[in-house]
Amino acid sequence: MPGVAEDNDVDARLLDLIGEHEAEQVVMTADPDTGLRAIVAIHSTVLGPSLGGTRFRPYSSEYDAVCDVLRLARGMTAKHAVCGNDLGGGKAVIIGDPRALRSEDFLRAYGRFVDRLGGRYLTAEDVGTTQADMDFLSTVTPYVTGTSETLGGSGDPSPATAVGVLHSMHAVAERLWGDPSLEGRAVVVSGVGKVGSDVVRHLCAERAAVSMADVRSDVVGALADSTGATIVDPAIAHSVACDIFSPCALGAVLSARSIPELRCQAVCGSANNQLDTDEDAERLAGRGVLYAPDYIVNAGGVLNIAEELGADGYHHDRAWARLATIHDTLLRVFARADADGTHPAAAADALVRERLVAARTAPTGAAAGASTTST
Ligand code: NAD
Repeated sequence: MPGVAEDNDVDARLLDLIGEHEAEQVVMTADPDTGLRAIVAIHSTVLGPSLGGTRFRPYSSEYDAVCDVLRLARGMTAKHAVCGNDLGGGKAVIIGDPRALRSEDFLRAYGRFVDRLGGRYLTAEDVGTTQADMDFLSTVTPYVTGTSETLGGSGDPSPATAVGVLHSMHAVAERLWGDPSLEGRAVVVSGVGKVGSDVVRHLCAERAAVSMADVRSDVVGALADSTGATIVDPAIAHSVACDIFSPCALGAVLSARSIPELRCQAVCGSANNQLDTDEDAERLAGRGVLYAPDYIVNAGGVLNIAEELGADGYHHDRAWARLATIHDTLLRVFARADADGTHPAAAADALVRERLVAARTAPTGAAAGASTTST
C-alpha cells in the first residue's frame, strides 16, 4: 500500500502498548511528499465502525503519539458503548505543527490514508483540526463526520456537548437534592471556551448562581458582561465553595493534590480525562464528592455526530432530543454504583464492559441497534 510504513524492525514497546490497550489495529503512514505522519488506532469495532476525531499536534516522539492515540481510542469505545451509539472506538493523530504543515496536498494525503481503511475508521474534528479540514477531507473520502451543516453534516459539536453537560447537571441535582432544577445552585465553570461558555449561558438562563474562570481574561470578561456570571481566579477555581464544580478546560484537574481542596458536592464538566489517576475516583468518593464520569458528561458531541450516520441523514431536532438520554445514562450509572458498592467511574466502566460482552456474544446482526434507545 503506497505511503504506509512497513517496518519489520518495529520497537517492541509499541507492540506491548497495543496489547496493553487491547486495540484491534494500529495503522501508520508517512508520506515524504507532503510531510504527513499519521497514526490511526482502531480500539474496537465490536459495536460498529470506529469513530473518533483527528488530533493534530507536535508530539515530542512517535512513542508519545502512539500512547496518546491508543488511550484516546479506548476512551472512544467506552463513550460510544455507555451512551448507546452503535459505533466503535477509534482515534487518529497527525504528528506535527498544524500551522506549519496544513495544505490541501497534505490533507488530501491524510484523506487517502483514512479512505484506505475502508470505513473501519470514521474521522471527525479534534484538537488541532477544524471543521474546514473536515469539509475538505469529505471531498477525498466519505469516511468523515462533523462536516458543515450546509454539506449535510452536524457541524461544530461544541453546542451539543454543552447541552449534554446541562443534562448531566440535572441528573446530578436529581441524585443529590431530589430535584433536577439548577435554580439557585452555585456552579463554578472552569474554562469558558467553545463548550464552557455555552454551559455558562445555559446555567444563567436556568438562574443558577454561576462563577467562572479562564486563563484568557478578555474572554471571561466579555462573558461576565453578557451573562452576569461572576469571575474567579483560574488557579483556585476548584477550591471555591459551590454545589457543582464543572471542569471545562484541561484534563487531570482531579488529583491527589487538588481533591483535598475541593469544596463542592459534585464534579460535572466537559473536560476529557479529568481524573489524574484511577485512584482519584476513590479519593473523590472518600471526600463525599459525587463524580459524574467525564466520558458520559461530554458525550453530547458524539451523540450529535452519530445522528449523521442514520439512513436519512442528520436531523438537528432528533439529535437534540437524543442528548437528553445522557441524563438517564448518568442516573443509571449512579444506581449501578450503589448496587455494586462502588463509585460512578467504576460503575460506568462496568456498563461499558457488559455492553461489549453482550455484543460479542449476540447472534450476528443482533448487537447493532439493540441498545440505541435503551441507554
Ligand atoms: P476550548 O479550547 O474552546 O476551551 C478551553 C478553554 O479553557 C479556553 O478558553 C482556555 O483559555 C481555557 N483554559 C485553559 N487552561 C485553563 C486553566 N488552567 N484554567 C481555566 N481555563 C483554562 O475547548 P472546548 O472545545 O471548549 O473543550 C473544553 C474541554 O472539553 C476539553 O477538555 C475538550 O477535550 C473537552 N471536550 C470538548 C468537546 C467539544 O465538543 N468541543 C467534546 C468532548 C470533550
